[in-house]
Amino acid sequence: MVAVSGYTGEGRGEKQSSPGIPETNLAPSSIAVIDGDPFAPKKPTVGDFLPPYLDVVDQRSTPGTDLGSNGLDEKCGQWALYGECQNGHRFAVQIFCGKPWHEACREIMHRRKIARLLPKVQQLLPAGHWVIRPPNELQVWFLSRRGRRLLIKRVIKALKSLEYRRGLVFIHYFGDDPTRFAFHLDVLVDGGWLEPEVLEELKAKLRRLIYNPAAIKRWGDTLAVNYHFKPTWGQVYSALEYCTRPTFTQLEGNERAADSIRGERTIRRWGRWDEEPKWQLGESEKKLQSLVSLEKGECPVCGKPIIWNKNPIPFDLVRSQGGVEITTGYYSLPPTRSPPAPLGGVDQRLNGLLKRKHAAFLEREEYLAQLARGGDQCR
Ligand SMILES: [Zn+2]
Ligand SMILES: [Zn+2]
Repeated sequence: MVAVSGYTGEGRGEKQSSPGIPETNLAPSSIAVIDGDPFAPKKPTVGDFLPPYLDVVDQRSTPGTDLGSNGLDEKCGQWALYGECQNGHRFAVQIFCGKPWHEACREIMHRRKIARLLPKVQQLLPAGHWVIRPPNELQVWFLSRRGRRLLIKRVIKALKSLEYRRGLVFIHYFGDDPTRFAFHLDVLVDGGWLEPEVLEELKAKLRRLIYNPAAIKRWGDTLAVNYHFKPTWGQVYSALEYCTRPTFTQLEGNERAADSIRGERTIRRWGRWDEEPKWQLGESEKKLQSLVSLEKGECPVCGKPIIWNKNPIPFDLVRSQGGVEITTGYYSLPPTRSPPAPLGGVDQRLNGLLKRKHAAFLEREEYLAQLARGGDQCR
């Protein structure tokens, strides 16, 4: 692309550097903490397992299938992980490809993302929503992972220097037009109402912190930096829904970008997120609340951690075992244990315990046998 090299003053073909974003300004170590998976809790959750599992699924189904949407269609949703809490509540979670351009699982992945972030976003009230969108002429730089990383770091550093002690950064690859790559960042922070003059000043400051003088000179106030104040919890929740929405919805014609973003985390954060929630979902959002628990790896019934089995099972098995969808992509399975015997002396209790253990054992045997059969069928 032409536009870019001219204005850095650097020759083309030299070592990559983004014109709008000189590299020198930032010690990489200062925000190294936000790289990696910021949301990985101490115990593994289903999310941590997904990429390797899809690889497993890849190998088990037709090898060499391309990653086009047809290939995705076949595998996506065909497998599940089985999990159980210490109280015997049993669950299965369906495994999806998670590619934003795969229509069949797009909204499911969106709900899961919302659920994973909700406990953090509930700490924001009022919230502020910044949007930073580089100009079209610079977009070519953000087709490279390095260019994107640089901008993300600069934006975080800039917002930190404006005294934002924490924030959630959402990476978007497209705007409203799914055919035109348009990398931009949405950032949720603890917000306040800003008087228009103050806001203009902050915007100007951010532009200077994010872009280099050449870019400021060329684009000035047209460098898109916007702020939206979110004073009510309803608005904060809508902002979360909006920020987590998948934007890369069309693979066709965007293969290069798809290649470049493979495995990239689309959400970063900085600061501490350990406060009590400032707002709660309405009663009608029970399903989402269950999803929040499950995404945290907690049993939605008793709150105990769920241990997820690492071997994927065919999703048909979940259905045939009487799995009932309790929330997006998660299924509850009938309990393996018989209900506890009424308390009537030690013997009776012991007897009940043994019976339950035995029943659980038999069920498990049956389950493993089924698993093996199912696995064979699907090879
Ligand atoms: Zn999918
Ligand atoms: Zn439980």
